[in-house]
Amino acid sequence: APPATDTDRRVVVAAPRGYCAGVDRAVVTVEKALEQFGRPVYVRKQIVHNKHVVQTLEAKGAIFVDELDEVPSGELVIFSAHGVSPQVRAEAQARGLRTIDATCPLVTKVHHEAKRFAGQGLPILLIGHGGHEEVEGTTGEAPDSIVLVETPDDVDDVELPTGQPVAWLSQTTLSVDETAQTVGRLRDRFPQLVDPPSDDICYATQNRQDAVKQIAAHCDLMIVVGSRNSSNSVRLVEVALEAGAKAARRVDDASELDPAWLTEARNIGVTSGASVPERLVQGVLDRLVELGYPVAEEERLVDESLSFSLPPQLRPHDQRGR
Ligand code: SF4
Repeated sequence: APPATDTDRRVVVAAPRGYCAGVDRAVVTVEKALEQFGRPVYVRKQIVHNKHVVQTLEAKGAIFVDELDEVPSGELVIFSAHGVSPQVRAEAQARGLRTIDATCPLVTKVHHEAKRFAGQGLPILLIGHGGHEEVEGTTGEAPDSIVLVETPDDVDDVELPTGQPVAWLSQTTLSVDETAQTVGRLRDRFPQLVDPPSDDICYATQNRQDAVKQIAAHCDLMIVVGSRNSSNSVRLVEVALEAGAKAARRVDDASELDPAWLTEARNIGVTSGASVPERLVQGVLDRLVELGYPVAEEERLVDESLSFSLPPQLRPHDQRGR
């Protein structure tokens, strides 16, 4: 094939992409806490799974810790968007810490479902990734009732009686299609499977995957902006490949874009995970222009208008109690 020229190259950027309502709220929570209460503001775990967001907030004075024992007593600590177990809340109280909870309301919803199912005496099969903070937090709501199921194949190894009702729940940022497979296999093995009242995979995860699927089949390369530990970003790479992209790569920012990936690539797709600031996507699009690609066209699947109010400690006084 002749080498690609400017005229037969195309860059399509997917929409929706980037920040979801829960990430936006969590990041603004840290910024406002720094403004209102001053330094230091501690944050347990990465507020959202994005390297650049964490670095930016660190530069403004936030101190990120892995566990609460790193926070001096009496200080202010923010819980991340991924949620925390009741054990962590209890520890904060016992240590005399002031807390602000930036858990995404859509994660809190899953916590409520776990408590309700456990209260009904149902075993719960939680579909998710072991070790992920969200899974640890949700599991903590009902540690004796929850069994983790990571993949469709894991279903065969679940050690529960198959002739009794069992409920299932999931992490919010999974692959929609793989989760449907896992649930199908659960229903085959556990005919009395009880569904959650509504989907646990959140609207943002669903929309970003759908938007990628819409453009993937035409892409020689899909570039997903997002950090290595961002579950929903890593899923976008997999979804792009499954939907027909010839190649898919994750980058934290434009500096990680290797021009060698582009030698055969005429049509490039770009998207970003729910924890990714738009400026990082713009950086990638600008870099592609420098490398001889045209300005990106956006293909928008749906508009998103959801937003969440800030935690009560941070709302302006005139809105308190509304
Ligand atoms: Fe909330 Fe979904 Fe965003 Fe996670 S990805 S913070 S669950 S809206």
